Amino acid sequence: MNLLRKTVKWLLTSCVPSRWLLTRGPRQTASKTPRIALTFDDGPHLEYTGKLLDILQANHLQATFFVVGKNAEQSPGLVQRIVAERHELGNHTWSHGEPSQTSPSLFLEEIRRTDEMLVELTDVVPQTVRPPKGELNLAKLRGLWKQGKNVALWNVDPRDYRMTSEAEVAAWVSTYEPQDGDVLLFHDNQPWASQIITQLAIRGTFNRFQTVSVSTLAGIIPRICSTGAAVASASS
Ligand SMILES: [Zn+2]
Repeated sequence: MNLLRKTVKWLLTSCVPSRWLLTRGPRQTASKTPRIALTFDDGPHLEYTGKLLDILQANHLQATFFVVGKNAEQSPGLVQRIVAERHELGNHTWSHGEPSQTSPSLFLEEIRRTDEMLVELTDVVPQTVRPPKGELNLAKLRGLWKQGKNVALWNVDPRDYRMTSEAEVAAWVSTYEPQDGDVLLFHDNQPWASQIITQLAIRGTFNRFQTVSVSTLAGIIPRICSTGAAVASASS
């Protein structure tokens, strides 16, 4: 079963355009600055997200935040700050339920509910969705595409949610060799993401690689609505 799921995922990510299902971005031509996408899931978090935003700002970095609706509802100021500081806002469902326990209809309803609240807070409709644990079935994927959503997964996972010390941060940072088009997965409801970004900055990673949103990496062109806010390129 696991092999079957892996095969289906491989087929999908190999055959579907990256703007619909992104795991990593295309490589640039040699003359262009290589790009990576920093992504942060599961926030916003009252303590860690603000600190992380400070670090991104100090280093002039752009990121994508896949927020959980019920967390966003409790920290509206942080959601507004994410958008005000020109990061991309992505949808990570309302409750972050266990994928195997979440039906396609509940999953899609959670996406809609989270969108609705984020629009109310920021005037921005998230274009990109990241499903909890990166797990989707075909019914969920088809439902997202019908709503005009783009799905963003990742290809680099330092497993920061399992880290317990600065030594583990340093160990991962020392072995990571960035590649053009990398999509990195972090979690801003944990303290380690901020430390990883700080360490990558010290290593000079961001002098060699431009950080961009997942939409930019995937080549998604945002539509601009009449109020000037970016809206989803939904077909509906
Ligand atoms: Zn998550």
